[in-house]
Amino acid sequence: MWITNGSVADLAIVWAVTDEGVRGFLVPTDSPGFTATDVHRKLSLRASVTSELVLDEVRLPDDAVLPGVVGMRGPLSCLTEARFGIVWGTMGAARACFRTALEYATTRVQWGKPIGGFQLTQRKLADMAVELTKGMLLALHLGRMKDEERLLPQHVSLGKLNNVREALAIARESRSVLGASGVTLEYPVIRHMNNLESVLTYEGTNEIHTLVVGEALTGLRAYE
Ligand SMILES: Cc1cc2nc3c(=O)[nH]c(=O)nc-3n(C[C@H](O)[C@H](O)[C@H](O)COP(=O)(O)OP(=O)(O)OC[C@H]3O[C@@H](n4cnc5c(N)ncnc54)[C@H](O)[C@@H]3O)c2cc1C
Repeated sequence: MWITNGSVADLAIVWAVTDEGVRGFLVPTDSPGFTATDVHRKLSLRASVTSELVLDEVRLPDDAVLPGVVGMRGPLSCLTEARFGIVWGTMGAARACFRTALEYATTRVQWGKPIGGFQLTQRKLADMAVELTKGMLLALHLGRMKDEERLLPQHVSLGKLNNVREALAIARESRSVLGASGVTLEYPVIRHMNNLESVLTYEGTNEIHTLVVGEALTGLRAYE
């Protein structure tokens, strides 16, 4: 379920349990027995289709299997790369929301002055700037660790967990700065906010990354 671009792709990469352990397969989507059905009525990540892939008695040649990758290392290494990208991407969404809120706050006038001149709005802007700066620095730090080949999956979990959480909080706070205008697509804020709800869930849910960090700290597994 929930495979991005599932119905438009020519090729699906499918990780499946075999007698040898988990293997990766290149599956042409025109293979007999392969069907992709789109999920409709999404209110998040609407720019891409998301599909349910069904493989019913699909037969593949021997060379469809990815060579040299047996077990979870293959899929998990792909995910660690993708999640590292999310650590940055979420800050891009948060920055777009923050900048929109800042511009709105300095131009929308109430009681003779911009709403950014009221202390409560300044507090929102200051808190958002603090979390945006911390999230960017965390991403930069993880990037440097990656360059030095010191980055572990649990570091990426910590970054994904924090930056998605804070980006969502920044999007919500920005939405409130915009008042009613924040709920329209005239501004990018609610679009980022809704998209970030998917990011909270995909590439490892918020809960599972919490448990990864918990395991790294305690040595105890709490997944099952
Ligand atoms: C728009 C979109 C696009 C996506 N694209 C892709 C894609 O291209 N490829 C792909 O592989 N996946 C994709 N996903 C799927 C995504 O990775 C899954 O939705 C995600 O892994 C969660 O799985 P689930 O939806 O089955 O939730 P569930 O597993 O049913 O989880 C529901 C809730 O229970 C919690 N939970 C589950 N198990 C535990 C546990 N052991 N301990 C504590 N809490 C737990 C979860 O954290 C979550 O909060 C996409 C999802 C969305 C929304």
